[in-house]
Amino acid sequence: MKIFDSHCHLNLDSYRKDLPEAIERARQAGVKGMMVVGITVDESRAAVEIASRFSGCYASVGVHPHDTASCSEESLTALKELAKFRVVKAWGEIGLDFNRMYSPKNTQEKWFIRQLEMADALDLPLIFHERDSGGRFLELLTAHYGGNQRLGVVHCFSGSIDEMEAYLNMGLYIGITGILTIQSRGSQLRALVKQVPLNRMVIETDAPFLTPNPEKNRIRRNEPAFVKSVLFKLAEVLDHDPQHLAKTLWDNTCRLYRITDTLNNKQA
Ligand SMILES: [Zn+2]
Ligand SMILES: [Zn+2]
Repeated sequence: MKIFDSHCHLNLDSYRKDLPEAIERARQAGVKGMMVVGITVDESRAAVEIASRFSGCYASVGVHPHDTASCSEESLTALKELAKFRVVKAWGEIGLDFNRMYSPKNTQEKWFIRQLEMADALDLPLIFHERDSGGRFLELLTAHYGGNQRLGVVHCFSGSIDEMEAYLNMGLYIGITGILTIQSRGSQLRALVKQVPLNRMVIETDAPFLTPNPEKNRIRRNEPAFVKSVLFKLAEVLDHDPQHLAKTLWDNTCRLYRITDTLNNKQA
């Protein structure tokens, strides 16, 4: 089985002590593809380093809505430089998060739009983060996103069915996390995934966050190996063969990030 974790943060401090081991555990679990997602300039740089070192790992660069308070034009210039590495396959994660409000709304919006423009100029697929923006994310997307010819994913989807349909109409992919495996918190998501066309969904861990069941019971920190639990829960919910579903999701992820397997000729 070949599984793609379409969104993880192996570039965070949580893996400082055991990064090679975490990647090896992922490979043993059949997780042969991992997208390491940037959230600040430093962590985007770390993502590029990891992707350059470990085969099967790819990187994205971007400033997360939480971190936009410290974003500047200089940050964007640095990210643009990083984006030249061929392991960089996407721009993100960018978007709006009005749940935690770590950065003011207008600051989040300003850098969301600026980064949309950057990704557009570089022709990179987009990784979106949206939480509790009350429709504002969709408004800005409608006004500033290139539409059908562009590629993008709304990661850790947590919106309504109407929002989901709007994203699908824009040609976006829907990212499904381990929330799917959680008894009460995942019930709405389990109902919604049935409405997502099979060729538009991808799975992710968002590790080190959102540890799925059953791993949640014994381990606090999430890691890419555990995306297998998201796959099996999704297969159960959709009543599909896990093997076949893994292949479909792998192909979707490669299409989304424009990854061709032949690119993979690194050492580790
Ligand atoms: Zn996110
Ligand atoms: Zn993330």
